[in-house]
Amino acid sequence: MKALTYHGPGRRTWGDVPDPAVRDPEDAVVRVDAVTICGTDLHILKGDVPEVTDGRVLGHEAVGTVVETGPGVRTVEAGDRVLVSCISACGRCAYCRAASYGQCTGGGGWILGHLVDGCQAEYVRTPFADNSLHRLPAGVTDEDALLLADILPTSYEVGVLNGRITPGDTVVVVGAGPIGLASILTARLYSPARIIAVDLAASRLDAAKRMGADTVLTVAEATPEAVRALGPDGLGADVAIEAVGVPESFELCTRVVRPGGRVANVGVHGKPAVLHLEDLWIRDVTITTGLVDTRSTPLLLDMLAAGRLDVSGLVTHRFGLDEMQEAYDVFADAGGNGALKVALFRT
Ligand SMILES: [Zn+2]
Ligand SMILES: [Zn+2]
Repeated sequence: MKALTYHGPGRRTWGDVPDPAVRDPEDAVVRVDAVTICGTDLHILKGDVPEVTDGRVLGHEAVGTVVETGPGVRTVEAGDRVLVSCISACGRCAYCRAASYGQCTGGGGWILGHLVDGCQAEYVRTPFADNSLHRLPAGVTDEDALLLADILPTSYEVGVLNGRITPGDTVVVVGAGPIGLASILTARLYSPARIIAVDLAASRLDAAKRMGADTVLTVAEATPEAVRALGPDGLGADVAIEAVGVPESFELCTRVVRPGGRVANVGVHGKPAVLHLEDLWIRDVTITTGLVDTRSTPLLLDMLAAGRLDVSGLVTHRFGLDEMQEAYDVFADAGGNGALKVALFRT
């Protein structure tokens, strides 16, 4: 089959690799019908994720059709349309028993396209299939479901739920890429009084407005004073969601949050950020971090099926699966072409 493989920093190929097969009784093999590229894949290609070894098939967000299951798989079978989630779960370890699947110590967690071959391929082997695949309701399109493989549960769990957004809150979202936009979308489920989005790119701020941001600010406009002034009594945000992953955006979040407020970090950081405890210690601020658990995926799928979650607009570019390299080029140049998520479909 064809797959996108990693060969050290800056080197990726689209070419032939062996077909995946069931290796463990709990495995399934899924034919990939739609797949996307994640910012994390770009981090891997920069060499920021050293656990990814030469020849690894990348990709951890897909929708597909089950073609084969091991004898230990009970809840999916050949022919089922499924969401291939970014997180796999053994279902047995202490973390999985507490639904903290992202921290699985039994061989799951974020493994696809990281520690085992991923789904930017014609087929993918999915370990722990019962706990890691989600059967898709009829009527949910492949493209919409694809957004629930990672960015929707990530922004909802690590941004909105960790940030404990409640009705009437002032929410600042720093970063209006796919994760920031999905944070805006899922923050709205809790009826905040206002959502303020901050980004460098005008195209992303336009998208933020379409997703429901009330006010958008460029990074130059988003001084801590200017952002705080938008909150009630000029005190700042109840919740600041960091959706970039650079020190400046994290530090901005800690400076715009009101006393007693919450900073929810979602961004993937590659460098240390300064924690301004000299300002924060007296202000009752809560800071949370997290890797997605995908425990909200069934709920989000149900809302999608019920028409209560409008994810249209997040996919900006569509390709055939064999246009993988071109799709990577477009996604890597998102600043120049306004790309949000790119989706690739089996042809
Ligand atoms: Zn991802
Ligand atoms: Zn586990």
